[in-house]
This record gives sequence, C-alpha cells and structure tokens, in this order.
Amino acid sequence: MRFPIDRILIDEDARDEPLTEEILGRLPHVPYGVGNQFSVLCRELALERDPLAGGKRILRLMRHKGAFLKPCPGTRNYVCCGLEILHIGQGCPMDCTYCALQVYLNRPVIEVFVNLDDLLRDLKESVAHSGRGFRRICTGEFTDSLALEPLTGLSARLVSFFSYLENASLELKTKTDFIESLLDVDPRGRTVLSFSVNSPAIAAREEFRAAALDRRIAAASRAQERGYRIGFHFDPIIPETDWSTGYFRTIDEIFRRVDGSGIAWISLGVLRFVPHLKDAVTSRFGPLPYFHDGFLSGLDGKSRLHSDRRIAIYRLMAERIRSRHKDCRIYLCMESPYVWEKSLGISMGSNDDLRTYLDDAVAA
Ligand code: SF4
Repeated sequence: MRFPIDRILIDEDARDEPLTEEILGRLPHVPYGVGNQFSVLCRELALERDPLAGGKRILRLMRHKGAFLKPCPGTRNYVCCGLEILHIGQGCPMDCTYCALQVYLNRPVIEVFVNLDDLLRDLKESVAHSGRGFRRICTGEFTDSLALEPLTGLSARLVSFFSYLENASLELKTKTDFIESLLDVDPRGRTVLSFSVNSPAIAAREEFRAAALDRRIAAASRAQERGYRIGFHFDPIIPETDWSTGYFRTIDEIFRRVDGSGIAWISLGVLRFVPHLKDAVTSRFGPLPYFHDGFLSGLDGKSRLHSDRRIAIYRLMAERIRSRHKDCRIYLCMESPYVWEKSLGISMGSNDDLRTYLDDAVAA
C-alpha cells in the first residue's frame, strides 16, 4: 500500500539526483513539474479550506541545504533523552488529529530530501568525529520514518549504513507497516524499529490513514523475527473516560505477539501540546473532546494535565507493562524527575541519566 500522491514538484537542483529518478520510476502515472513552482503552489494551497489536507497529496523532491543531523528539540525543565534527529524530509501523508506538525511546519506539502550522498557524508563525518560517546539517532521527528519507504527505500539503506557503526544506533519510528524493504537487511543490533501505538479506539478514530493497530503489531512481530530490536511509543496517551481498558488491551496484544526480551524500550507520554494547536485542530476537524480536559500551562508553556493525573496514568501503564515483562525498559517523554520517581519509581535526575538508561538498551 502507498499513500495517494496527486502531484510531484521537483526543485531545479534536485532533478539529477538518483533518488529523484527512483521515486519518479515508482510513480509513473503521477504528473510532475520541474522548476520553481513551489511558491505558486503554496499560494494556491493557501486559498483552500484546508491547505494541509491538500498538501499531504503533494510530494516535493528537493535538496536539503543545512545540517542533516540535529539535536532533538527537547524542553528545559524536563528530562530529555539526548536523541538526535536525522533530517530526511518533512511532512507526513497520514493525518493524526493531535499531530504537532500541523503547527510546527511552515510548508504544507510532503518534502523528501533527495541529496542522499550529502546526507550520508554528513552522518559519517558527524559520527566519526564524535567525542560524545554513543549516539542515538532517529528519523521520525518531522516525518514518519517509513511512510514514504515504498517510494524511497531510504530506511533500508540507513539500516545497512548503521549496521557497521560501533558508536551509534538508528531508530525508525512509524505508524505504518511498511517494513518489507527492511526485512532482508541485517541490522546487526544497530536499528530499533519503533511503532507508535495507542488504544484501539484512539488509533481508529484519531489516526487517519495510519496502519490499523494490529497491522503495526504484526509488523513488529515480523521484524523481530528478522533480527530487529523493537520499540513502542504510547504517545500521546489520551485519558478519556475508561481510558485504561483500551490501553491495557494494546499492551496485552503487544506482549502476546512480540517477545518482551527483544523490546528495546517503551515510551509513555500523556497528551501535551502548544496552546495554538487546539485552534488549528479545531479549524480542521471541528471541536475534539479530548482537548477539553483539565489542561494547565506547563513549565515549557505547553498545555499539560496536572502532574498527579499524569503520575496516576504512568503508574497504571507501567504496572501493566511490567506484569507482562518485568524488566521492560520504560521511559517517559519530557517529564520531570519528580514524575519519574513517583510513577515509575526510577530516579532520573538529569538528561545524562536518561541518556545512559537508553544507551544501555542499544550500545551493547
Ligand atoms: S503519523 Fe506522526 S507525523 Fe504523521 S500525522 Fe500522525 S503524528 Fe503526525
């Protein structure tokens, strides 16, 4: 399965890149144009009722001119895990109602950076000259890691590239089950294939065009059989009425189908958002009940539920996960040492502590 693409825009200086040619070859019936049409298109999209919806069907092939590797935009006052982002493109053909990219990105189309040689050179130099110890690098921050894999084959190349590195690991993060290209590549323990999951109800209702939850878990199981370490991200957890029933069902299904000892980590993050996301989402999808809970302004300006509620949620999730696999490495995304201690019983006083905790899952 692939996502629908209606049109391809190719920047003039990206026309001769081999990856451009490969993508065009895989979309032979999609019209494309080369040249400086992007600003015209953006003006046209801006006149539509929902520019983002239109933009999700347009693919822009372009060269990335800046650094490919950047630190994750973590937040002060919360414990961050030291992940680095490998910038392979931005935008996503799926459409989760809660997606932060709706207000984070300033261009509505899906962009693929086709100057792959530059990307690999940047990566190689950065990792080779690193005095910073082990590096965890992820591609799924400004896009979904595998959403365009059937078109680009990029992640399979990255898995192969990382398989020979001693001091770095790759995390691919996805809501798809597009793992075919990865199955014949031996990750040699250097790639964690992570699936973003949710309760069955939230996944079905709020994650448009994402793979059904059971397909994601089935993909995790298949990838594990082929030597991949697996990760799961419960993020955002949306605590609507009787929330735990659905989340527990997902946890139980994961451990029924995936060997817990091969899970690198499971992250938990209760819904949090920059305040203007609510307006943007409401204008696209209408009012959504889950935004109308007892949100307060957090230390980073994001809207968050009170820490007592977050602690109660994390504690219940962790108990359920540990009841299925007692040594599972659970971590919290952007939470304070206090919340860590109260919910997981883990002393996580600094970013370095969390970095070491996660490095230990993949550095061996
Ligand atoms: S899959 Fe991720 S990047 Fe894509 S729309 Fe959903 S939350 Fe956003």
